Amino acid sequence: MTRTGLVALLARQLEGWREDDGALGVMLVRLQRVREFGLFYGYAAGDALGEAALARIASVLRPQDTLVRVGLHEYVALLPGLRGHHHAALAGGRVVRAFEAPLQVGARAAPVAVKIGISVHPDHGRDAERLLHNAETAYGASRRDSEDSALYDDTGTPPLIPYEALHQAIAGNLLQVHLQPMLDLRTRRIVAAESLARWHDDALGPVAPDRFIPLAEETGLISPLTRWSLNATLRHAAAARAIDPTLAFSINLSPRVFGERDLVAQITSSLGVWGIPASAITLEVTENALMEDPKLSLRRLEDLRMEGLGISIDDFGAGYSSLAYLKFFPATELKIDRGFIGDLRDDRRSIQLVRSIIDLGHHLKMRVVAEGVEDAESLAMLAEMGCDGAQGYFIQRPLPAEAFIEGLKASQPKASPLH
Ligand code: C2E
Ligand code: CA
Ligand code: CA
Repeated sequence: MTRTGLVALLARQLEGWREDDGALGVMLVRLQRVREFGLFYGYAAGDALGEAALARIASVLRPQDTLVRVGLHEYVALLPGLRGHHHAALAGGRVVRAFEAPLQVGARAAPVAVKIGISVHPDHGRDAERLLHNAETAYGASRRDSEDSALYDDTGTPPLIPYEALHQAIAGNLLQVHLQPMLDLRTRRIVAAESLARWHDDALGPVAPDRFIPLAEETGLISPLTRWSLNATLRHAAAARAIDPTLAFSINLSPRVFGERDLVAQITSSLGVWGIPASAITLEVTENALMEDPKLSLRRLEDLRMEGLGISIDDFGAGYSSLAYLKFFPATELKIDRGFIGDLRDDRRSIQLVRSIIDLGHHLKMRVVAEGVEDAESLAMLAEMGCDGAQGYFIQRPLPAEAFIEGLKASQPKASPLH
């Protein structure tokens, strides 16, 4: 079922709701670490795993509950007539326990874990969009915490961003490009910069990309946002390269746009418009996002690589354990998640891990970059370990693109005056 279908289904259930009907739970269930299953055994096996999980979830729900599959390994259950939050939490616990025994897929036993987020009507929202959004937020909490199932907790969550505000911001060109330099650890020169989107809304104040990118991904606004980001970044890149023609640029790309047929054409035509060679641009894709649909990701990345663009695997090490599939992706760069870099100074295990990620990347002929470098000591350690590049507040914070370009001008050697 599509998201639109799900919203309509939930809206119908809410329509006739009366106070004495009790609470309605919205439970989002995602299977964890199962993308590799499809990658190794084929799409059909991944799909069969999804079906087996559907049956397993259904087996612990009540007859009046509705269960729909909304993605390959993603489900939403609507739980009417609950006696309160506690009752919703019990339902989540039942589903978690149902996955203690492995699923059976053909002749294979597949051990599968789930993470669950639940929101409850009317306390966590009165309309379908809000309830689904809050179930998603609760899911995020369950991924961060050790609990496998989490109930939405509205204490301390920032206010919801209205869809219309983001839509306007993208359409009205109100987002800004900030650039964060990347240092080459051998030459000690700034060789590249990463584009990071910024949004300052008059009413909402500054909104961090960690808040508006997921919203854009959920609502389809990621397509216009990606077009904006490509064009705005390449425009600044052209200005910067007029000063230093060796500078390269990195652009974050959400794999949610991989489904668009003309993505590659869009990118190459923007490159043409701004006169920038594909080899000067690296597209950064997070490791987790790649695994949402490894087959499609692989195909798109290969197309982009064929055009000469660089591919970076972002947040490496933070998500699904990935050594097994890493070699399939045509990546040119590995970006070590800043979680490891922050711990580098006082955690021996992080040192070992970073060292092995660097070796792994080099073994696969990739450049290895560390992000989130916040002090001189970590920078020196990374250089000593043979890491190729580094980014972080210690080197420079992300700057408005205009300021970055001004800085570039100021650092260029002055031409000697003519007599
Ligand atoms: P990311 O791609 O992992 O970007 C790095 C984030 O780390 C940025 O956060 C950056 O400001 C921050 N950072 C840089 N140096 C340091 C440091 O030394 N210490 C710490 N603690 N943080 C540092 P930001 O700008 O808030 O972006 C968050 C995420 O939003 C990005 O993570 C990226 O995934 C996404 N994003 C940002 N702009 C875009 C965009 O235009 N398109 C897409 N699809 N995603 C974007
Ligand atoms: Ca990035
Ligand atoms: Ca990152």
